[in-house]
Amino acid sequence: MTSSIIIVGGGIVGASFAYHAHLNDIKKISVITETLPGDNQQATTNTWGWVNGYANNDEEYASFRLASLNYWPKLIENINNISSTSKGAFFWDLNETDILQTIDQHQNWGHSVSIKQEFELEKILPNLFNKPKNAGYGKNDLAVEATEISKKLFEKSNVNFLKKKVTKLIFEKNKVKGVQTGDEKIYADEVILATGLGTPEILESININFIMRSSLGLLAYTNPLPPLLNHPITGIDFHVRQDSQGRLVIGGRFDDDATKENDLAASAKMLVNEMVSRINFDGEVTLDHYTVGKRPLPIDGRPKIGRLKNSVGEIIKGVYIAVMHSGVTNAPMAGKLGIEEIISGKQDKMLTSFAPHIISDRE
Ligand SMILES: Cc1cc2nc3c(=O)[nH]c(=O)nc-3n(C[C@H](O)[C@H](O)[C@H](O)COP(=O)(O)OP(=O)(O)OC[C@H]3O[C@@H](n4cnc5c(N)ncnc54)[C@H](O)[C@@H]3O)c2cc1C
Repeated sequence: MTSSIIIVGGGIVGASFAYHAHLNDIKKISVITETLPGDNQQATTNTWGWVNGYANNDEEYASFRLASLNYWPKLIENINNISSTSKGAFFWDLNETDILQTIDQHQNWGHSVSIKQEFELEKILPNLFNKPKNAGYGKNDLAVEATEISKKLFEKSNVNFLKKKVTKLIFEKNKVKGVQTGDEKIYADEVILATGLGTPEILESININFIMRSSLGLLAYTNPLPPLLNHPITGIDFHVRQDSQGRLVIGGRFDDDATKENDLAASAKMLVNEMVSRINFDGEVTLDHYTVGKRPLPIDGRPKIGRLKNSVGEIIKGVYIAVMHSGVTNAPMAGKLGIEEIISGKQDKMLTSFAPHIISDRE
């Protein structure tokens, strides 16, 4: 029986595990984390916040994302969060053939996505100049304020917070029994690692080589503006959405890596200036602030959720991993199914191919 858990990591993934642990009556939930939602070292603080079901040529991952997308509205309702922003998102960051193929493929997998033509975009996005001939439209896609939602999920979970770095896992006879933070040892029935880019370092302490990549994402925030764009948009060389305070949150190409930018403030200003030239608005638009976040990317780009195996192929007991990019999209289902697996000992079939030791060759 699982009566006590330690969740290492205070981002959106840790928050979802905490929330679902509480829903499942786990009495003692400790969250040990170096940073909290809103701290600028977290991926969660620096995210763009688009929840969507896309995973080209990867039906398993697309189904998982769709399940999470479908679960998100219920989660928002359950935590009484009023600040989910827009519903329905557009993309046209692919050539026309690829847009049509993406839509066709995802429709065949049961997603509510469609093509919107230029004349329809005129009505839906009246304040945007230069619309494409065809855009993909995810009817149920969402934009969420990940920091606020993570805080809310923790609030609802009755957790005990410890703001510390976990330096080691306590490991005996192929079982993780707890964690060490400097000199202090803390024990629990289960340790969940929702540690994003901190995961390889922790796993080194039990001789697991867990490889991750990362890239840097820059987002520029404007001053609050009247409603201009009701839907998140991913265009060819920009992405933009309007957040719950009316700020435009602007990035460049969707997966741009800002690692090599040497003047991030100047690049952020440029993002704002370029966006001003794309929208029909006469008022003042200024750069309020910018964020830079590291994307936590498992080696094959797919989430890693589940149990680890040791060098002879045995499951390591007492530890569960939940590390992913698109963590905002995936966190609800990861937390729900992850906690159910920890309690029941049974892995949901949706998680089978995301077990940490399975590396997909899709990327
Ligand atoms: C610019 C950008 C845009 C993005 N856009 C989107 C998007 O539109 N949609 C989407 O779905 N996803 C998006 N993502 C990805 C998404 O933000 C992340 O996948 C998600 O936030 C990861 O959440 P997490 O909780 O796993 O990690 P984090 O938020 O990074 O949290 C990890 C936590 O673990 C703690 N930690 C790590 N090691 C230790 C340790 N040893 N001891 C104690 N604590 C530790 C950290 O302090 C931190 O609190 C984007 C990311 C970036 C950077």
